[in-house]
This record gives sequence, C-alpha cells and structure tokens, in this order.
Amino acid sequence: MLNIALFGPPGAGKGTQSEFLIKKYKLFYISTGNLLRKEIKEESDLGLAAKSIIEEGGLVSDEIIVQIIEKTIKNNPDANGFLFDGFPRTYVQAFILEGLMIKLDTSLNRLISIDVPEEVSVKRLMERGKTSGRSDDTEIVIRNRLKEYHDKTLPVLKY
Ligand code: AMP
Repeated sequence: MLNIALFGPPGAGKGTQSEFLIKKYKLFYISTGNLLRKEIKEESDLGLAAKSIIEEGGLVSDEIIVQIIEKTIKNNPDANGFLFDGFPRTYVQAFILEGLMIKLDTSLNRLISIDVPEEVSVKRLMERGKTSGRSDDTEIVIRNRLKEYHDKTLPVLKY
C-alpha cells in the first residue's frame, strides 16, 4: 500500500496535485472537505453539525472528521493506497491517522507539504469563489481559514 498525505494552506493547490497523484499511483482519494460538503448536501446529522463551522472558516471537530475518515476507509478495503487531501489538520487527527494505518497493517509513506504565500492563497481562492459556489471562498472566511491553518494545522507538520 502507498499512503500519502497532502499538506498545505487553503489555496495551495492540494486538489490539483491530488489529481496527478491519484492517477499516477492509483490511489483512493480522500478529501475531508469534499466528504463534509457531501454530508451537508445530504442534510445528514453530521453535515448539519459541520455546516456553520465550515461557513465561518473554522475547523470541524475531530470527532466528526474521525467518523467520516473511518467510514471511507472501511468502505474501501481493496484500495491500493489512500491519498489524504486536507487531513490531518490537528494533532489529534495525526494520532488517529497513525492508529488507522496501524490497524490496516500499513503506514503513512509520504507527507507532501505545499507552501504558498498568504496573499497568493487569498487571491486564488477569491478568484475560485466566482465560480466554485463555495460560501467559504469569500475574503473574510478565507482569512479565517488561513488563521486556523497557522494556529492549528501548521504545528502538525513537526509531528
Ligand atoms: P477544504 O475543502 O479542505 O478546503 O475544507 C473546507 C472546510 O472543511 C475547512 O475550512 C474546514 O471547515 C472543514 N474541514 C475539512 N477538512 C477538515 C479536517 N481535516 N479537520 C477539520 N475541518 C476540516
């Protein structure tokens, strides 16, 4: 199994790079952001709990993230490997990922960190907001997402 995590601030291009990597290495793609937006669309309890936090640009609770990650991994027992986009975003999530990998008798083989200057992120995401239909691609929310990244996610890189 080959398991890769893509790390970086919002607007770094994780989604774009994911497309190349999943094709090249035949990985199963897990974007926690996409999974959450799907739950919101389906108006599940989980989606309802996450909705307002996402709209404010905050981080959804680790409990919710663990539930969707576990469910997705369990539903894909034959995967060649996983590509995690936007996960882990906190220390707790990093510990949990480690535990899940051990359970599958594998490990996280690579973590690829993509960096981009803050103002480039803001510009890119505001541009994307014109067509993405994502309510969190607006300047105030983008800045909050970047703050969450610096406060809670970036420190996970050391771990
Ligand atoms: P993304 O599509 O990765 O930009 O994620 C969009 C939003 O979903 C984020 O701003 C968070 O509110 C939430 N989210 C996605 N992944 C996570 C995660 N691993 N932990 C906490 N919140 C997340």
